[in-house]
Amino acid sequence: MKKIVIAIDGYSGTGKSSTAKQVAAGLGYTYIDSGAMYRAVTYFFLQEGIDFSDDNQVNNSLKNCNISFDGPSIFLNGEDVDHQIRTMKVNQNVSQVSAISEVRKKLVEQQRRMGEAKGVVMDGRDIGTIVFPKAELKVFMTADMDVRAERRRKELAKKGIKEDLETIKANLEKRDKIDSTRADSPLKKADDAKEIDTSHLTLNQQIDKIVEMAESIIYEG
Ligand code: C5P
Repeated sequence: MKKIVIAIDGYSGTGKSSTAKQVAAGLGYTYIDSGAMYRAVTYFFLQEGIDFSDDNQVNNSLKNCNISFDGPSIFLNGEDVDHQIRTMKVNQNVSQVSAISEVRKKLVEQQRRMGEAKGVVMDGRDIGTIVFPKAELKVFMTADMDVRAERRRKELAKKGIKEDLETIKANLEKRDKIDSTRADSPLKKADDAKEIDTSHLTLNQQIDKIVEMAESIIYEG
């Protein structure tokens, strides 16, 4: 059967990751959370006390930063950092780190290698535009800010992290701004991406829509 690459991009809190994960499971594909990779680098820099504006420090430190996946879990230099990368501290710094070209270069190379054999669903900000511009299916997810902030609040609460809605909203707005205005690979919809507004959709509806789109490409011939 034909295997394809599915690129899912969009703003934070639009349900990208949960949707992408389930779409991959439904199709028997590998799910890759590219945001987790930027978060892991950010966590590493914070741990090492790296000054993000110092190119030398950034480049030297990147050499010692090895990211890998084992199923859905992400590892930084062999340590499972699934929980450590979801804190507000990482949220507050990840967009600055993601704007650094050397960081993007390293992670994009690794992402392309992971997608070489196809049969992957990758979510992020530049997957359809930069990482896999030839992806067979590109989806761009949006949602109203209030919906996004509430979803993020619930997600954090589930992990035992309590944050008020205003702080979350301010963080989402700040990240949107940095992500869409950075010089290198800004967040934007690829011309050939299908846009899905998830404000009034349930998770299952989002998943079904994308699986349907994928299947029509996989079985088209
Ligand atoms: O998807 P998530 O919200 O976990 O991503 C965290 C951050 O990582 C984003 O706000 C963005 O700055 C960065 N990112 C990126 N490119 C990607 C995925 C994430 O710049 N492909």
